[in-house]
Parts: sequence; C-alpha cells; structure tokens
Amino acid sequence: MTAIDLQALKDGDRRALAKAITLVESSRAEHRDRAQEVLEQILPETGNSIRVGISGVPGVGKSTFIEAFGLYLIAQGKRVAVLAVDPSSPIAGGSILGDKTRMEYLSRRQEAFIRPSPASGALGGVAQKTRETMLLCEAAGYDVILVETVGVGQSEYQVAGMVDFFMVLMLPGAGDELQGIKKGILELADSLVINKADGDSALLAKQASRHYTSAMNLLRHTSFWTPRVMTCSALKNDNVDAVWGMIVDYYFQALQAGAFQNKRARQNRDWMRQLLNEMLLQQLTQNPRIKALIPRLEQDVEEGRITPFHAARQLIALL
Ligand code: GDP
Repeated sequence: MTAIDLQALKDGDRRALAKAITLVESSRAEHRDRAQEVLEQILPETGNSIRVGISGVPGVGKSTFIEAFGLYLIAQGKRVAVLAVDPSSPIAGGSILGDKTRMEYLSRRQEAFIRPSPASGALGGVAQKTRETMLLCEAAGYDVILVETVGVGQSEYQVAGMVDFFMVLMLPGAGDELQGIKKGILELADSLVINKADGDSALLAKQASRHYTSAMNLLRHTSFWTPRVMTCSALKNDNVDAVWGMIVDYYFQALQAGAFQNKRARQNRDWMRQLLNEMLLQQLTQNPRIKALIPRLEQDVEEGRITPFHAARQLIALL
C-alpha cells in the first residue's frame, strides 16, 4: 500500500480518503500501526461534523431516506458521508448496507461519500473501523456523517455509542406494533421517524405516531432531550427537511446543556475501555505459553482437578 497523502485527504480528495479508509480497514498488523499514525495526525481536524445514526429493519426505507436526506443536506450546502455498520457483512464490500447502487442519485454527487460496511474480523470489529472511518471523513471536511445500521442484533448499540443523534426509522403499520424492534432499541433512540407516511399509509402513520409518542413518554427522560416522534415519506420527499430541523434543534440544545461534548467524551472513554478489553483478550489468546496451557487447564477443570478460579489465575499470571 502506498503512502497516504494527508494534505490531499484534508483538502477533501476522495481518492486519498478512500485509501486512508482502506488502510484503517486492513487487519494486517503493520497497516494497523500506520493507520493509527494517520489517525493521530488528523485528530486535530476531527470532531467538526454532526454524527447521525440511522437504524431500522430491512425494508423500512433506510436507503431511500438516506438518499432523500443526503440530497436535501447537499442542497443546504453540506457535504455528507454515509457509512454503514453491518456485522452480518460476509465479505468486504459485499454488504447490504451503504451500497452505492441503492443510493443512485446521492452516490453521483461530488458532495457525497458513500462507503459500505467493512468486513468484520479485526480488533474492535466492524464498529471500530467505522468509528475510525468517521474521523477520516471529518478530517476530509464532511459536515454530516450518517451511520446506517440494520435494526437487528447488537449493531444499533454500537452505532448509538458512536453518534451524536440516534434515530430509528419505523413502519406505519399500527398492527405490527413493535415490528420486531426490541424495546431496548427504543430506549436508545433520540427520535423515532415513521417512514412511508404517504398514500393509504398516511393515516396509519399518524396513529402510529400517537402510539409511539405515548410509548416513548414512558421511557427514560433523564437528559435535556425528550425523544421525538415524527412521520415522513422518504419516497415523496415529504417532511425529510423537518428531520434535519429536529437534529439541528437537538444540536443547539445539547450544546447549551453542555451535553454535546460530554457525550462525545463519554463515548471516547467507553471506546477506550472496549479496546482495552479486546487487547487484553487478544494478548491472552495469542500468547504462545498461554495458548499451550489452556487445553490442559481446561481438562483439569472439566475433570475437577483444579478450580476454574485457580486455572484462570494461572493463565493470567503468564501475561
Ligand atoms: P431499506 O432496506 O431499509 O434500505 O429500505 P429501502 O430504502 O430499500 O426501501 C424498501 C422499499 O420501500 C422500496 O421499495 C422503497 O421504494 C420503499 N419505500 C421507501 N421509503 C418509502 C416511503 O416513504 N413511502 C413508500 N410508499 N415507500 C417507500
């Protein structure tokens, strides 16, 4: 891999950005070190975007929404990066999220940068790489970073932990009330946006909006912000601007409450702790002496010769 041109990256050169992301996504140890050097160097240029997480079950309209939303933001003079966290992604670039072909108009715009989900496997996994990619996009001058994820599994927690504002797209059908979306996810949401509020579904969307407004009111409200429920039609480009209005509202309220930087500081601290756990585990499982000892100790534990506590302590002592 050739050198990363940091100046070109900071000047917004998309090829330099794509190259830096490829470096960050590489799981080879020497790339990892170089990627960290690049990240250290661009750190002063990061943090200047608004980071928005967008989740929802497959078919809810995430890519349609992101396309409409991204084009709206571009019309407002913004540059928009779309990243994806898709832990189910089998191979690099083979992801179902953040796929360029799904956002045909947006992907043609110079002001947009769309990157599919990285492959999993390396330290910190997919979410770690997306966090680092987000920093690179900020250094490259993107004003709004949209991080997309599917509303299944653990990825929403990871995405909610890396963005300023987390929203969940919902379907209008009042019948399928929680539509397989876990209650825990609603607790993470700064907003529920009921999409497909058009045609025959417009009325259903209104009903769903009332339903979720009362459901959300029963959830936590410890912070300065009460999660909002909205309706929109990504397809008809209806109320998509109001979603941005809400995020801007949130941004200024968070700044005023001192919550904006606090949240980012907390996220960085949590990120460090998570990495520390993973690094310790990696050291533990890659240490040749420990690796050699584990099977024997496991057998000893299974056959009751030593206690699990004693076995674990013996392994840790070898670190
Ligand atoms: P994703 O899987 O969440 O990314 O969903 P898509 O964006 O691929 O949308 C799934 C389907 O819903 C597509 O056929 C879209 O055209 C349709 N769709 C998306 N948004 C809307 C909307 O606001 N109204 C209507 N009626 N259909 C929509």
